[in-house]
Amino acid sequence: MILLQIDVGTLLIILLIIMLIATVIPNLLSGEEKEKNVRPKIFTEISCVNNDYSETREYVPGDYVGKILQDRKCPKCGSQLYIKGIYSVYPEERKKESVFT
Ligand SMILES: [Zn+2]
Repeated sequence: MILLQIDVGTLLIILLIIMLIATVIPNLLSGEEKEKNVRPKIFTEISCVNNDYSETREYVPGDYVGKILQDRKCPKCGSQLYIKGIYSVYPEERKKESVFT
């Protein structure tokens, strides 16, 4: 006759390991998926100070809301262009989400 005896300490360790595996594995799987799919594309909205022209281009590091573009002029009136807003687009959901406004 085999006597199987597990004390409380061993049982707790086994439970802990099971819980650890159960929580870590789904995180690893979904984390990898997030990395691939949920990376948003960031766009910068440029507007003329006279509000007669606006365009959207890809975000360039250094862009911030309110920044005056020194190298660009409004094609309509020749005034200064500034960054009106920066937003991200999630390609999966096609959802516009304002980041800084
Ligand atoms: Zn203008």
